[in-house]
Amino acid sequence: MAQLAASQVAVTVPVGSDLSTRRSVFKTHSISFHDKSWAPSLSLDLKTKNARLRNRPIICQSVQQTSVPKVNVSPLYLENAKEPPLNIHKPKEPYTATIVSVERIVGPKAPGETCHIVIDHGGNVPYWEGQSYGIIPPGENPKKPGSPHNVRLYSIASTRYGDTFDGKTASFCVRRAVYYDPETGKEDPSKNGVCSNFLCNSKPGDRVRVTGPSGKIMLLPEDNPNATHIMIATGTGIAPYRGYLRRMFMESVPTFKFNGLAWLFLGVANSDSLLYDDEFKKYLKDYPNNFRYDLALSREQKSKSGGKMYVQDKIEEYSDEIFKLLDTGAHIYFCGLKGMMPGIQETLKRVADQRGENWEEKLSQLKKNKQWHVEVY
Ligand code: FAD
Repeated sequence: MAQLAASQVAVTVPVGSDLSTRRSVFKTHSISFHDKSWAPSLSLDLKTKNARLRNRPIICQSVQQTSVPKVNVSPLYLENAKEPPLNIHKPKEPYTATIVSVERIVGPKAPGETCHIVIDHGGNVPYWEGQSYGIIPPGENPKKPGSPHNVRLYSIASTRYGDTFDGKTASFCVRRAVYYDPETGKEDPSKNGVCSNFLCNSKPGDRVRVTGPSGKIMLLPEDNPNATHIMIATGTGIAPYRGYLRRMFMESVPTFKFNGLAWLFLGVANSDSLLYDDEFKKYLKDYPNNFRYDLALSREQKSKSGGKMYVQDKIEEYSDEIFKLLDTGAHIYFCGLKGMMPGIQETLKRVADQRGENWEEKLSQLKKNKQWHVEVY
């Protein structure tokens, strides 16, 4: 399949051996343009294709999008806002939300525990995709007796409509921070992470103090619906991208009809540690020309050099495409543990050197163009 940069063209034309499969899935007689804005892009792009391609059936992304039912949401006022909501609830006056559900979302062989947590904010803590909430765990701050705990930030893993599609909930992807004594190898519960354990142990109906929303770095730029978004995650760093992808592929939102390319790289330990894999596989099936999904399973796969497979090894594998996409305006996002960045930066620098490019200059240009988005913790 020839995957073309979405910022360059609005139509991806599958060529070669997989064409017949695609043809059987998306029959041309099912073409229907519910939204007239799609029509000009089809005729324009048809004109630009060369003669060889013109003789082959062309499958338009917008045709695929209209053929896959999405969840209709009632647009929130947030759709018309020019700026994201910010710090509506401050640490001194947090909003008390309610836990809706807590679900372990990793398999038995995953190291550690990661939970998907949905909270009900009743529409009182509105947010945009890519923002975070602060959580104040119950109890006293051991460093400041008599005061509450410090706020811990958690990236929101849902769209502004929430997993309930009504704008009243927010979801998180939380990894339980546990402490193992390095000498005995035994868990020491007195040193376990306060907030992550509070969240992962909580039950439906429990109260949770929320601040925010906060953060502008990871907002999804929506000015160009044909843009390319390259998303790099390790572990719970997947949270903001789950929100982006649901907005792009799951919800029908009148103000944002995504027709570009979303390319997700996820690094986790093993297949039991995969997060939201079913959702992502469904997008791959429904939007094969708009979504790419690459995994780095450090404990199951080997890199080219025979070591563990980390996200930077996957980035290196596709570096030619990634660099070309960046040169044509793609956004690149990094989210997850702080430790992911040095290895990634090293790889990007090495690739740039091999291509005869100056990485520092390129990076500063990407930052200047607002294409570079990093949120690591
Ligand atoms: P803390 O109580 O703050 O403890 C921190 C660590 O120290 C733990 O690993 C704990 O085991 C260890 N520790 C405690 N006591 C001792 C001791 N005496 N000696 C040695 N070690 C000790 N996290 C997520 O899971 N999901 C997210 O989506 C997410 N998004 C984030 C977004 C942002 C912008 C930021 C800044 C952070 C994000 N985090 C996220 C991290 C989150 O904010 C917390 O830092 C994390 O959950 C740990 O908080 P805690 O209260 O559980 O641990």
